[in-house]
Amino acid sequence: MGGTFDPIHYGHLVAAEEALVQFNLDKVLFMPTGTPARKTDQRVTPAEHRYLMTVIATASNPDFEVSRLEIDRPGVTYTVETMTELRTRYGGSADLFFITGADAVLEILTWKDSARLADLCTLIAATRPGYDLSPFMERPVPSGLRVETMEVPALAISSTDIRARVASRRPVRYLLPEAVAAYVSKNRLYRGDG
Ligand code: ATP
Ligand code: MG
Repeated sequence: MGGTFDPIHYGHLVAAEEALVQFNLDKVLFMPTGTPARKTDQRVTPAEHRYLMTVIATASNPDFEVSRLEIDRPGVTYTVETMTELRTRYGGSADLFFITGADAVLEILTWKDSARLADLCTLIAATRPGYDLSPFMERPVPSGLRVETMEVPALAISSTDIRARVASRRPVRYLLPEAVAAYVSKNRLYRGDG
């Protein structure tokens, strides 16, 4: 499961847990992005903070792991490169899935690499409030990418909203794990006061 995780929240965790069970996966590998290819114009929190928050959020789940692959790779992050590395690491017989939310799957189909991605993995698209997954449920997608859809309990939580809440001193409790909220507060992330 790739993401900026800026910060990680219960929407991510619920989607990962559902994928684990619905698709009978051995584990879910959380992959915080280095410099995300599609977010180069935005201010993204330093990778080390995002990595640590992801570790904190997933620590209690034995089936969740966090990878440093993308944050340790210099330059802009491309998912195809990451999937190629994972394919090498786990071997040709492993089934690889790329877990995304409904908004991200819509984007991925516009990537120039989506046909190459089709050879490497299957996409799992989780429902997300505000985004329509029905186009993927009926017909095959043009790039040949296999897309499995997955119903998850609707959580209208986003990192963007959490950052805005912290900046305007509104509550974030119950939107993300308490230990992550404590990390955010301790490191004065998202407060907008530098
Ligand atoms: P931002 O608002 O900064 O874009 P985000 O909440 O969308 O943050 P990302 O790190 O961009 O989080 O998302 C990582 C992956 O998790 C994406 O595939 C995204 O679609 C998915 N995701 C995020 N929030 C949810 C949610 N509430 N329900 C289902 N999937 C989600
Ligand atoms: Mg997002």
